[in-house]
Amino acid sequence: MEFYGHIIDGHEVPSLDGATMPDIDPYTRETWATVALGGKPDADRAVAAARHAFDHGPWPTMGYEKRQTLMHRLADLMEQNANELAMADTRDMGKPITQSLHDVSRSVLNVRFFADHARMSTGEALPMDTGHHAYTRFEPVGVVAAISPWNFPLMLGTWKVMPALAWGNTVVWKPAEDTPVSATIMGRLAIEAGFPPGVLNVLHGYGPDSAGSALTENPDVDRITFTGESGTGKIISAVAARNLTPVSLELGGKGANIVFDDADLDNAVHWAVEAIFRNAGQVCLAGSRLYVQRGIYEEFMVRYKAAAEALTMGDPKDPATQFSAALASEEHFSKVKGYLGTDALGGGQILTGGLGEGWSVRPTIITDAPQDARVVKEEIFGPVTVATPFDSEAEAVALANDTRYGLNAMVFTENLSRAHRVAAQLNAGTVWVNCFFIRDLRAPFGGFGDSGVGREGGNFSREFMTEPKAVVMQISPA
Ligand code: NAD
Repeated sequence: MEFYGHIIDGHEVPSLDGATMPDIDPYTRETWATVALGGKPDADRAVAAARHAFDHGPWPTMGYEKRQTLMHRLADLMEQNANELAMADTRDMGKPITQSLHDVSRSVLNVRFFADHARMSTGEALPMDTGHHAYTRFEPVGVVAAISPWNFPLMLGTWKVMPALAWGNTVVWKPAEDTPVSATIMGRLAIEAGFPPGVLNVLHGYGPDSAGSALTENPDVDRITFTGESGTGKIISAVAARNLTPVSLELGGKGANIVFDDADLDNAVHWAVEAIFRNAGQVCLAGSRLYVQRGIYEEFMVRYKAAAEALTMGDPKDPATQFSAALASEEHFSKVKGYLGTDALGGGQILTGGLGEGWSVRPTIITDAPQDARVVKEEIFGPVTVATPFDSEAEAVALANDTRYGLNAMVFTENLSRAHRVAAQLNAGTVWVNCFFIRDLRAPFGGFGDSGVGREGGNFSREFMTEPKAVVMQISPA
């Protein structure tokens, strides 16, 4: 059984006390790898390595071009090792292998995009009429702690780590305890690509009272970028405040998917299925609340149910599998299962789906649930959608906004004015019209309300990963 260690100061190392944790494949329900289990001493060691590399190493001062070259070399190595990276995420969390391979491509794009973005970025020149000249610079901040979740292990890890690196920072990346392997592989590839020691460190361990919390408490950490549950985000925010460490929080969601009666139904059904059943709904952006205009509700539901039932469910390692017969872990399976009980349904009916074999839940559609039912209010983070009819545009907007979350929403309509009108009224960080999941990495990504604090992507990542500085210079005699 292969061992996956921390990557600290350019070396793969075990924990200082030798502790390990089993890495369980949720489909086979067997341990498939052993991983270093870090604690505070390992976190401190990783931060010290990153601190030293920032303060004394060549990384922050070598220039955008050299960093860009190294990052593209890393991206090349990721492409060469795409199968190993994808299989790591598939075995760690049961994601269908075709989707894990897609995630690898997106992760490679994260590396290349942020490398190029930093190099091509421009600051503002501010001509003054007082005999002075002002301009902006973007200075690296120092050590960035990147804490990522288990649902897109490689993709969300690289989304946080790469802008930090591109802007000249050093990083300690703590992947989720359930999905550690692709991060160690990335650390190995960074060494192979020629990254200086201490620039990209990978720290394994749990969150509370473990490697995660030790990282957030460390005063040598200059930024914390976190993706995970809203509750965890609040804890991290409170801890970070003690050191005045800025945080970027990408948190939970309860996405509304609104289908108007003039929508292209084939397209709307296709995306309604993708929105909640891709990665078995273990997606912050999942379209877990489906609102369909009454005139088309019945026809839509017939098609939607048929499409959900047609998904090929099976072994995530099999390229023919569209929907995994395993949620990410036993603990997560228990959580999702809890939402199929009468208490959470609040009177709602299961139209199709329910429990599957092992730790799996089949594509599940719930109807007739009241808007205050737990299945409507809470993030289930599984393949469970709640469908509700609506009558008017105003009602659809009100229903969609009736949530403490605000990560994203979808609108399906062929009416251009309505699309813009509704998009403007939705309290969501991203609104997709007649599509879903499509991203431009320059666009802001983040959420309203309990879905997060701050935005990442393009210049938004630049602002978080740097200290923007104003330089004001006298150019005429006083
Ligand atoms: P989680 O909050 O349990 O864990 C996320 C990470 O934080 C893990 O690495 C974990 O070890 C670490 N952690 C936990 N407690 C910590 C603590 N006290 N201090 C420091 N680190 C700690 O989340 P999860 O279950 O891994 O992920 C699922 C959640 O992530 C869902 O709520 C989902 O919506 C959210 N998510 C959000 C986005 C987004 O972009 N907004 C993307 C994906 C997932």
